[in-house]
Amino acid sequence: ETYGPGLKLVFVGPCIAKKGEAEYEQFEGEVDAVLTYGELRTLLEQRGLDLGALEGADDDFDPPRGSLGGLFPITRGLLQAAGLTEDLLRGDIVSADGRENLVDAIVEFKTGETEARLLDILCCEGCIMGPGYSEPEPVFKRRSDVSREARERRATFDEEAWEAAMRAYDDVDLRRTFKAYDQRFDHVPDPGELREILARMNKLTPEDELDCGACGYETCRDHAIAISQGLAEVEMCLPYSVEELRKTVEELRESHRSLESTKEALVKSEKLASMGQLAAGIAHEVNNPLGILLLHANLLLEDCEQQSGDHEDLELIVNQANRCKRIISGLLNFARQNRVVRQPTDLGALVAEVLRTVPAEEGVEIAVDDRLEDPTAEIDADQIVQVLVNLVTNAQQAMPDGGRLTVTLEDTEDEISVSVADTGHGIPDEHFDKLFSPFFTTKQVGKGTGLGLWPSRTASSRCTAVRSPSSPTPTTSVARPSPPSRSCCRGARAA
Ligand code: SF4
Repeated sequence: ETYGPGLKLVFVGPCIAKKGEAEYEQFEGEVDAVLTYGELRTLLEQRGLDLGALEGADDDFDPPRGSLGGLFPITRGLLQAAGLTEDLLRGDIVSADGRENLVDAIVEFKTGETEARLLDILCCEGCIMGPGYSEPEPVFKRRSDVSREARERRATFDEEAWEAAMRAYDDVDLRRTFKAYDQRFDHVPDPGELREILARMNKLTPEDELDCGACGYETCRDHAIAISQGLAEVEMCLPYSVEELRKTVEELRESHRSLESTKEALVKSEKLASMGQLAAGIAHEVNNPLGILLLHANLLLEDCEQQSGDHEDLELIVNQANRCKRIISGLLNFARQNRVVRQPTDLGALVAEVLRTVPAEEGVEIAVDDRLEDPTAEIDADQIVQVLVNLVTNAQQAMPDGGRLTVTLEDTEDEISVSVADTGHGIPDEHFDKLFSPFFTTKQVGKGTGLGLWPSRTASSRCTAVRSPSSPTPTTSVARPSPPSRSCCRGARAA
């Protein structure tokens, strides 16, 4: 009435709860808008307004002006403004702030455990700590600012003018009534649901419930109850989020590792493909003239007298040409690494055949331990023969002073394996990772191509090298992980 029709009433303060209160039915139409300090600053900035430069910027508020009412934003400020004090001797007025104290004060008031007749309670820590405050200042600095402002105002406070101004509003009813606005949630989770939510929060045992309060709830159970009521999220639990983050980092690390090894494998397979092409090209080019050379050398050898001086030379030519053929055959095998022809094969018979073609060296005892339930396996017999011949040959060469070579055949429902173990000098650690690399050999020049174990790494057998902890002597094994069909080889060499 004083300012005429069309007046808009805007509440400005740090408390965002006022936004909700302004919507209450009992205040309908009384407050047009509620702004926090932060929102007011943003609004002024957006409009390009400088408060200090506005006309009447230095004017005070319109009367009646507040005096001690300026203390309202501080805890207990309301009591002081109303001329009431919390007398500890009488205990009839109780002030409490903060979520827990508020609940305790209400409960004790309700049960009559306190003599209080008036409760001054705040769920928060006073308006000065309201989230709408725009300056990031500490709590006691804020309190000091409010106290100083109230003190300065009080110094120039005109009691008579205030009373006169108040008389103008004598007919305004300043009483305020409250209606119960029950916001409690009906849903109370049963123990099963609570356990399930706690499990989602990684709280599987009572020890996991740290009750650290970092989520804003006193206990993990309070947090779980809030989740069941749709008020909170599992991610609000700090230890949970840290653990999830750790897992994500670990997963990323793992996928990075896997990408790296895939990249390495790709580079390696590209290299091997070009090596294979080169090897195949050379082998084909050399094979034909070598075949002709060998044929004619053999013909000449047949016609040559045993005692003739040329016989020995021709024998040397034939032997060396045969060695070249073996090298070329190794190169061709290397080149055909991916052409695997699997056929059902009796592995026991195949091993027996291999041992017939590679007779025992002097001082070497060869034993076969056949434990196969079913000897049939789908394998590329040629490649497995080559692997076994090379394993047996290598094993014998590793025992120059004699020893024992054991070939063990074993099978399970999904896997069949052949292990070749010897009691020789073993494989040095530094060579272990290179066992299946093509062209890797520790033999003298002319004694080996380094392609002997290569086929064991191809699709036909997928062999891997492992050190066997179960052997009486330290051994190394060449073993194959379970393939979709029964095929394999396993070799063991004393280390
Ligand atoms: S942050 Fe997690 S551990 Fe801490 S009280 Fe909340 S739910 Fe419990």
